[in-house]
Formats: sequence, C-alpha cells, structure tokens
Amino acid sequence: MTVEFDLKSIYVQIIKGKSAPTKVTRHGLNPATLEALPEVPIATPDDLDSAVDAAKAAYKLWSTTPYEDRKKAVVAYADALDQYKDQFRDLLVAEQGKPIPQASQETEAAILWIRKMAELPLLEDVIEDDETRTVITRYVPLGVVGAIVPWNFPLLLATGKIAPALLTGNVIIVKPSPFTPYCGLKLVELAQKFFPPGVVQSLSGDDDLGPWLTSHPGIDKISFTGSTATGKRVLQSASRTLKRVTLELGGNDPAIVFPDVDIEKVAEKVAFFAFLNSGQICLNLKRIYVHSSIYERFRDALVRQVNGYTIGDGSQPGISHGPLQNTMQYSRVKTFFDDIEKQGWKVATGGKIEASNGYMIAPTIIDRPPEDSRIVVEEPFGPIVPLLSWDDEADVIERANNTTMGLGASIWTADLDRAARVARQIQAGNVWTNDHFSLSPTAPFGGHKESGIGVEWGLNGLKAFCNSQTLFLKKGP
Ligand code: NAD
Repeated sequence: MTVEFDLKSIYVQIIKGKSAPTKVTRHGLNPATLEALPEVPIATPDDLDSAVDAAKAAYKLWSTTPYEDRKKAVVAYADALDQYKDQFRDLLVAEQGKPIPQASQETEAAILWIRKMAELPLLEDVIEDDETRTVITRYVPLGVVGAIVPWNFPLLLATGKIAPALLTGNVIIVKPSPFTPYCGLKLVELAQKFFPPGVVQSLSGDDDLGPWLTSHPGIDKISFTGSTATGKRVLQSASRTLKRVTLELGGNDPAIVFPDVDIEKVAEKVAFFAFLNSGQICLNLKRIYVHSSIYERFRDALVRQVNGYTIGDGSQPGISHGPLQNTMQYSRVKTFFDDIEKQGWKVATGGKIEASNGYMIAPTIIDRPPEDSRIVVEEPFGPIVPLLSWDDEADVIERANNTTMGLGASIWTADLDRAARVARQIQAGNVWTNDHFSLSPTAPFGGHKESGIGVEWGLNGLKAFCNSQTLFLKKGP
C-alpha cells in the first residue's frame, strides 16, 4: 500500500493526532555548513499537559487492543517508513551530519528494529501448574511512556523505543533532542496514519522540556538515552513519582588487542569502530589496549587507516566522516585538543583542529597517555582516542574494567577460547570478540555500572515496558 507523506513540508509536533503549533519556535543547524534548518515548535507546559491527557485517553483503547492488531499496525508503520527511507536518510544527513552510507544504515536499522521486535513473542509464563492451582506471570503495559532521544542516532533510537512501547500496549510521547528534532518529528507525524490519536505523540522543545517530562505525574515510564550526567538527573526527577525508568547512558569501551592478530585487518576494524560517526557513538572504542610486542606496528597500521579517512560534509559523495553534531559537543571535544599541549600528550596522528565551515575535526590518536589522564578516564564523544600498551593479561583486564562505565568492550585475538574466556571477565553490558558494535534488535542492550539501568530491545526490552503481574488461579472454588 502506498502511503502519501511529505517529509519536506513544515515540521510539527503532534498532540492528539494533530499538529500543535506554538507561538515561539526555534531551529537546528546543519552541522556541516552551519546553515539554519527549518523552524520547529517549542512546547509549553500546557502542550505537555494536553499530550498527557490525550495519551491517557488513548491508553484505554490501545492497551486493550489485541496484541496481534497492535503488531499489524506496528509492521504497517515499518513498511511506510521503508517507503520513505531515502527521504529520512537525507533528512538525517542534513540534521545529524553523518555521511550518506551511514545515514542509510541507520535508516535501514530503524526499520529492521521495528520489524524484528514485532516478531518477538511476549508470552505468559506458567510458573506452577498442579492439581490445586496454576501460577502465571503475564506482562501488562505501564501506561504513558516518555521517550527522550539523543542527537547521535535520532532515527534508530526513536524507533527502538516507539516499537516496543506500542507492541506492549503502552502509548508514547517522543521528545527528540533539540539539536536533531527533524527525523523524530517526521517519524511521529508518519505514525498518525497507523495509530489512533494520542497513541504516538511528539513534543519539540528546548532544554526545559526534558525535566518537565521526567517530573510529570501523568507519565508512567521514562525511556531515556543520553549522557550519564543527564541520566542521573532523570533518575532523581523520576523518583518523585516512582516512574519506571530505563537509562541507556555513556560508555568508555576498551578494545584489548592480543599479539596473535592480523595487524592490518584488525587495525582497520579497530580504527573503524573508534572513529565511526566521528567518535559520537556510545559504543565507539574509546580506549585501545594493544600488546606491547606489536604496539608500534599496530599503531602505524591504525594511523595509515585513519589518514585514509575523508572528513567533510556528509551529503557529499566519498566522505567517510562528518562533522561533530553541535557547538556544545565541538567545544567540549576541543578541550581534549587543548590538553594535548598542556599535558604533553604524544600524538600519533591528527592533533590539530583546522578552520572549517562546519564542526569538522580530524581523527586523532594519542600515543600512550597516562592511564589516569582525562582522555583515558572520560568519554570525549569525538574523534580523539588514546592508544595504550599492555603486557600481562590479568593486568589489562583489570585496566579495562577500571572505569565507572560498563557499556561495551571487545577482545581481538586469533585464539577463540581465549577470546571467550577474557570476554567473560569484562564488566560491561555488551562484549564482542573480534568485532564491536554489531547489535541486534532481538538481543537486549544495556549498560553496567554508570552506563545505564535496565535494557532496551529483545524480549527483555519488551518486558521493560511492562509491569509483571502474577496470577494465582485456584483450581476449584
Ligand atoms: P544528553 O544527555 O545531553 O541529552 C539526551 C536527551 O536528554 C536530549 O533529548 C536532551 O534534550 C534531554 N535532556 C537534557 N537534559 C535533560 C534533563 N535534565 N532531563 C531530561 N531530559 C534531558 O545526551 P546527548 O549529548 O544528546 O547524547 C550523547 C550522550 O548519550 C553520550 O554520553 C552517549 O554515550 C550517550 N548515548 C548513549 C547511548 C546508549 O544507548 N547507551 C546511545 C547514544 C548515546
């Protein structure tokens, strides 16, 4: 079925199935050119109240709609998104800055995530069944979900919340990042063709809107993806009304490279996962530990890879790495470059920020900075990565784990038994061997320690949008 939809028209927030204009508006910037993008609304507290009222009314209908019917609507929504995937991809490039192939991958993933999560069977669990009673655990929706989305994956991280919330019978209010509101608003506008008014709504705002959402008594769950610092504020605010909370937060992922690897091949992959999206992914490799016996050769291979990257406007062909997404992030990443001279860090490649039209920064590798330096301890969220050396396996595992973060990690070795053994000793929610960042809509995703609370995606992710309810059904009067 062909769905009529216009991605180029005005960008609106949707309350109760309709555009809800605001008196005051704002706009984002294309980070590659610093050109102004179209105006978007700035929601008021009254808009939030109206959205919550509409959501509560819609919840009565949607939560009692049979699972199979909800699933059909969700799959039809994915099909419509598929129909407009090129337009969403181009909008993503314009607002986020990532190169076209990566925007295309994110768009495809956003569609796949919806479809695959719709296939997950959310069954009742029979816990006991004897002659006296049956005990069943079932999963019932929570109510109104507030989805708070960051600026690095505005499409995938929105559909990764919308699909499981709707499948499980919740209704959802999506708040995109003020830096990247466009794809999120269009996602919700498109959703109006498939869901009753109030089931999927959007609010577009400035920095006040997030705190209003997390403290609103009419919202039952916050699904938040963003920084650890903001995640702590979300948890504190949500605690006042005991909202359910899922927090997907920052990372400081280590790669541990053993001496038996194919240096050229592994350096190519490690560089790829360190600098993908110009270092603006929670799961970028942010600390690279290389065995001292191959350290120099591996460093030189990494540098060769990185020097082959093309930095520029992601809408242009042949660009491998786009700009930083916004001025706040650009300024923060610059402070790590200021530290190069101040701290006397050795630079393997990069190290300087050249003047450019947009927020461009050349990928930079810092050669063996001290283990307690901020480039090792903090998450820069930009294209600057420390390369470190190690000799003893137990010691490097301890160093890899010596962080407040615990999102991802990867082990690189030709010895697969060793890879699996070391992987099991890493304190992180996602550990890969000879790979990194390769995620799945059917696998739960979440962080340990200060990288998050709870998981999204997979069956566990669906259950995170539910209360569990245990029924003790007596056999006989
Ligand atoms: P951020 O925390 O600044 O913002 C995330 C979202 O929270 C935005 O929509 C923002 O408007 C909103 N927000 C800001 N202050 C708020 C408040 N007080 N209450 C409620 N909402 C508020 O994060 P960001 O800069 O957009 O994203 C980068 C960070 O996100 C990095 O640390 C990265 O590692 C992390 N991240 C994590 C994952 C993951 O799945 N674990 C994925 C992507 C990004």
